[in-house]
Amino acid sequence: MNRELSRRTLLHKAGLGLIAVGATSISTIIKPASTFAQAKEPPMPPTKRLGWAIVGLGKFATEQIIPSFAECKSSKLVAFVSGDKAKAEKYALSYGVNPKNIYNYQNYDSIRNNPEIDVIYIILPNGLHAEYTIRGLQAGKHLMCEKPMANTVQECQAMIDAAKKATRKLMIAYRAQYEPFNLAAIKYARSGQLGKLKLVTSDHGRNLDPKDPADRWRMNKKLAGGGSLYDIGIYSLQAARYITGEEPIEINAMIYSTPGDARFREVEENVNFGLRFPGGTLANCSCSYGHSDVKRFQVFGSDATLELDPATDYYRHRLIIKRKSGMEEPQIQEQNQFALEIDHFSQSIMENKQPKTPGEEGLQDVRLMNLIYEAARTGSTIKV
Ligand code: NDP
Repeated sequence: MNRELSRRTLLHKAGLGLIAVGATSISTIIKPASTFAQAKEPPMPPTKRLGWAIVGLGKFATEQIIPSFAECKSSKLVAFVSGDKAKAEKYALSYGVNPKNIYNYQNYDSIRNNPEIDVIYIILPNGLHAEYTIRGLQAGKHLMCEKPMANTVQECQAMIDAAKKATRKLMIAYRAQYEPFNLAAIKYARSGQLGKLKLVTSDHGRNLDPKDPADRWRMNKKLAGGGSLYDIGIYSLQAARYITGEEPIEINAMIYSTPGDARFREVEENVNFGLRFPGGTLANCSCSYGHSDVKRFQVFGSDATLELDPATDYYRHRLIIKRKSGMEEPQIQEQNQFALEIDHFSQSIMENKQPKTPGEEGLQDVRLMNLIYEAARTGSTIKV
């Protein structure tokens, strides 16, 4: 049976309670939609919303982030920073951004004189995150920066210090931590509904395409910081950390890059890493730049297994709980995770609260990813 069709059929039959699915006839319980219902807040009037400047008009910015402002309730798009003036003008026209609010990388610092801009969002190649974050903070603006936070722990620390010095807020754009299916998975895992957590597995992979301009800088160590680990393995690492709610105390790892593959002259292709958490949960994680798409995690508890696949896509997530008694697919409403994430930061600024994913969260991942490299290089298990 076609997967989408079978899924729709299941959802359609939700009101009927127990139904049999698949060749194994496992009974399936569909929970009511209200299980994870979200409160519906009306949007703020545009004059009250915080003004955001987007730095770097690449694939992710133009295809996901910029369109998502239409679904924001406390944030509005007011400025662009780009090395390509014609592209910035085109997007300004499409999204109603005043052309006087278009900047380039040379006059970026003069953003300090523009009171319409409250927040800067850095969506540049990883190796440029630290410089543009620090310059943005020094211009007196609040700062959201894409993952991975920066190439090195030292750069991450300098970004945190710059935010403190400027008394401005710094958030790392970990969208999965604002996404409803991931939040539901965290709730299941941490509330004991799966029993005692034994193992988390998480895999993130895709085939790097040298013809795609967005993938070209990803093959360059200086601009990318690392390979599949820095780009997508970070999602596996994040999943293990936010599902357990703990920090790993031991790490082991293996790396393999296909010999002679020109894509992997400077950055790695495949990484497998293992984590041990203080509460006794283990994690097996992988990431790859060499195989077909995967973005999933599984949580094995003593009573039940949770599967989220895809877990970290932009939409169409699927969460399943498997128990001895059968399989559940809770109905969770898809929402625009980017809009939720952007509004979270605006709200944190308005209410003067620490955002859920501050600079320290980004630093911790960069620190752990460097220990994963070290564990692979030395072939030893590293105590964190
Ligand atoms: P792109 O290459 O598509 O975009 C990067 C943009 O940065 C370019 O279009 C360009 O914009 C600007 N830029 C400035 N200097 C350089 C340079 N030397 N080389 C290349 N680009 C430059 O990359 P992505 O949009 O895929 O990724 C950007 C960031 O977003 C990365 O940090 C990545 O990790 C993150 N990302 C996060 C995702 C998520 O789900 N959270 C998903 C995808 C990416 P311009 O022409 O306007 O100057």
